[in-house]
Amino acid sequence: MFKGILIEKDDNGYRAELKELAELQLPEGEVLVRVEYSTLNYKDGLAITGKSPVVRRFPMVPGVDLAGTVEDSSDPAFKPGDRVVLNGWGVGEVHWGGLAEKARLKSEWLMPLPEGLSVRQAMAVGTAGYTAMLCVMALERQGVTPDQGEVLVTGANGGVGSFAVQLLAKLGYRVVASTGRPQEADYLKSLGAAEIIDRAELSEPGKPLQRERWAGAIDSVGSHTLANVCAGTRYGGAVAACGLAQGMDFPATVAPFILRGVTLAGVDSVMCPMPKRVEAWNRLAGLVDAPALDNIAHEIGLEQAIDTARDLLDGKVRGRVIVKVA
Ligand code: NDP
Repeated sequence: MFKGILIEKDDNGYRAELKELAELQLPEGEVLVRVEYSTLNYKDGLAITGKSPVVRRFPMVPGVDLAGTVEDSSDPAFKPGDRVVLNGWGVGEVHWGGLAEKARLKSEWLMPLPEGLSVRQAMAVGTAGYTAMLCVMALERQGVTPDQGEVLVTGANGGVGSFAVQLLAKLGYRVVASTGRPQEADYLKSLGAAEIIDRAELSEPGKPLQRERWAGAIDSVGSHTLANVCAGTRYGGAVAACGLAQGMDFPATVAPFILRGVTLAGVDSVMCPMPKRVEAWNRLAGLVDAPALDNIAHEIGLEQAIDTARDLLDGKVRGRVIVKVA
């Protein structure tokens, strides 16, 4: 038997509870992993609270991220004792995820722990940090370089936003952080933000073309914010869009794209092919250091995960949440 959070949906409603589970209940897969750490991402918050239909099979163990040690593997690519990391692939949505002491997984989803990171540090990064890295790589692919001007990060106090600020600053960009929590300005500056703006400047309907300000932007917010970010992006600039914390809508015009050659680059971490994941994680391992991770992430126990998921959706959590599972 082992401990895990189980989400159930039946005649008694939708609920998440910490329960005793049996190995026999685990889904099929080639590799059995003893999970040491998991995390709480925005998506895990949605899954645990049931606020959005993220979970597509019941019962479900949530947790889109996990890191731990292989206990058993029928695939020779992995052997007992190997340290592994997993992000996405529908885990925590359609396949039991990381918020339990054990997980049985498909071997093709697993990555060896990146060199230079501990399992705990890998989870301090988690899907949020890895997605921020994919966003930075998307801007780089569009030719956005530090000498071109300011790069905006929206949702800056969140998990993706915190890492986007830290990574861009480390790479030499001048970062402007947009936030609804100006009281966290010192934190954002400690990550490397040069300037903080109030997210209210971006969150209401705006003009289709605005003052050309951003050479690039990383947006985890969507909705009017993303529309305004595109409208304020400089000629030839690029915006990496990865999130929907304000909303899934995109009430924009094509003006920035057809009159200023702005590129809107979509970023998905869940089904991202393995070579790109490995590239992102290797870059992350070189760009994040222990003090930066300690600044961004804080640790909770598995028994606190359900309450913290609610706080996360209420915008009360700063940075990243690492969950110590076992
Ligand atoms: P967090 O909850 O940690 O951060 C979200 C941040 O968005 C908040 O901290 C807040 O920042 C800002 N925010 C929240 N509500 C609003 C609002 N109504 N209007 C404007 N800003 C708001 O989440 P994550 O960082 O884990 O994820 C961010 C987004 O990215 C989510 O939508 C998530 O689903 C998505 N995502 C997508 C991935 C992909 O593969 N495409 C992977 C990972 C995440 P502040 O307080 O600074 O204003």
